[in-house]
Amino acid sequence: MDKEEFRRFGYEFVDWVADYMSEVADYPVMSQVKPGDTRERLPSGPPIKGEPMEKIFEDFKKIILPGITHWQHPSWFAYFPANNSPPSILAELLTAGMGAQCMIWQTSPAAAELEEVVLEWLRDMLGLPEGMAGVIQDTASTATLCALLTAREKATDFEANLKGLKKRLIVYASEETHSSVEKGVKIAGYGKESLRYIPTDDSFAMIPSRLEEAIVRDRDEGLSPACVIATLGTTSSTAIDPLDAIGKISSKYGLWLHVDAAYAGTAALLPEKRAMLEGAEHIDSFVFNPHKWMLTNFDCSAYFVRDPGTLIRTFEIHPEYLKTGVDAQVKNFRDWGIQLGRRFRALKLWFVIRSYGVEGLQGMVSKHLRLAQTFKGWVENHENFELLAPVNLSVVCFRLNHGGPEEDLDDLNQRFLESLNRTGKVFLTQTMLKGRYAIRMAIGQGTTEERHVKDAWDLIVEKAKEALKT
Ligand SMILES: *Cc1c(COP(=O)(O)O)cnc(C)c1O
Repeated sequence: MDKEEFRRFGYEFVDWVADYMSEVADYPVMSQVKPGDTRERLPSGPPIKGEPMEKIFEDFKKIILPGITHWQHPSWFAYFPANNSPPSILAELLTAGMGAQCMIWQTSPAAAELEEVVLEWLRDMLGLPEGMAGVIQDTASTATLCALLTAREKATDFEANLKGLKKRLIVYASEETHSSVEKGVKIAGYGKESLRYIPTDDSFAMIPSRLEEAIVRDRDEGLSPACVIATLGTTSSTAIDPLDAIGKISSKYGLWLHVDAAYAGTAALLPEKRAMLEGAEHIDSFVFNPHKWMLTNFDCSAYFVRDPGTLIRTFEIHPEYLKTGVDAQVKNFRDWGIQLGRRFRALKLWFVIRSYGVEGLQGMVSKHLRLAQTFKGWVENHENFELLAPVNLSVVCFRLNHGGPEEDLDDLNQRFLESLNRTGKVFLTQTMLKGRYAIRMAIGQGTTEERHVKDAWDLIVEKAKEALKT
């Protein structure tokens, strides 16, 4: 492709994306294709001769687009959002254009230093402790794995230095913790049986006294408690583990404290939501995802650590071919995580923060929190619905309950949710809360307005009537 053709399609694609952004509400939120539909329409082998871009773009629209689930739809209420924004998309275009691989300072000094600075901004925007240093990871799962690896490294050093003994290391998290914790525990070699799920209270938050009991029991049995993971904003119901109490316990017993705030971290942009960070001085590592609720294209996960030295000791390598003359003066982010090669993710974050400003981002979060309260009020005031969890942030967990037998409610709600999603007008997903099937209304897409939430509620009421009739 020559430069002029690139320019022509570049303009055309930007036009297409701009139109897509304004028309996305006309698509069914969840793709309507069946398993195998897309595959069937693709040739089984690559073309031998290059094809014209017109034809490739035609096929994109004909074959690929129908198989896309539209995360940027204003009626996206499933999982958590993964919102993007115009400034973020533009930054991604520049990033792709430069194609820089930012493994070390020398391979793009500006990328390394921008990442450092933007994460300091972000740390201060959230009110995290001043000394914490940040690095961008691809996802929260990777950041949590890094935390588990660092905690393991620290605990093994500690063990080796003190006793020369090797004992099984134990990890603690609440029974509502995200599945990435179990995955990380498996990958990091603790072994699944070394993960203790601590019970939660009525609000689905970890009970600190039960954590301490578990730690003491394990110590008494000769095991070695190594890491505790507190969640701010659990995936099922956005429960908030009591950080201060958990932090005191982890400090008392010398455990690594990792905080998973993948979704809820964004809420700390609002000073009135920072109570959840009380006890932050105990945190060893903290992750949150600007790619969820902060208008930054997937992927972009912000990972902060109190002591970069421990992190770097876990990951550093010094092969001759990566040595440079400035290694002593700069941050080489290859040593702050698992991968060597790194995308230039700081650019989109910088564009987003500068375009919206702190107030713009705060405004978006406040709006979503307010809409969730409105929706919660509608649920509470309707005789056929009930809330299943406190509404701490922008997710409402509820179910249809007309007073029928408890054992029928899971099936009823599952059918009801399917009928709702089949309309293509909204997309919501489910979870289990203390053994009960719950529907999650997760508000947080960047373009969601009150009318989208109201339309969703009207549809919910209508479909509920039908579900109760059958
Ligand atoms: C979404 C989520 C994760 C996983 O995030 P990825 O970035 O997709 O790995 C982990 N923990 C919590 C609490 C989450 O909500």
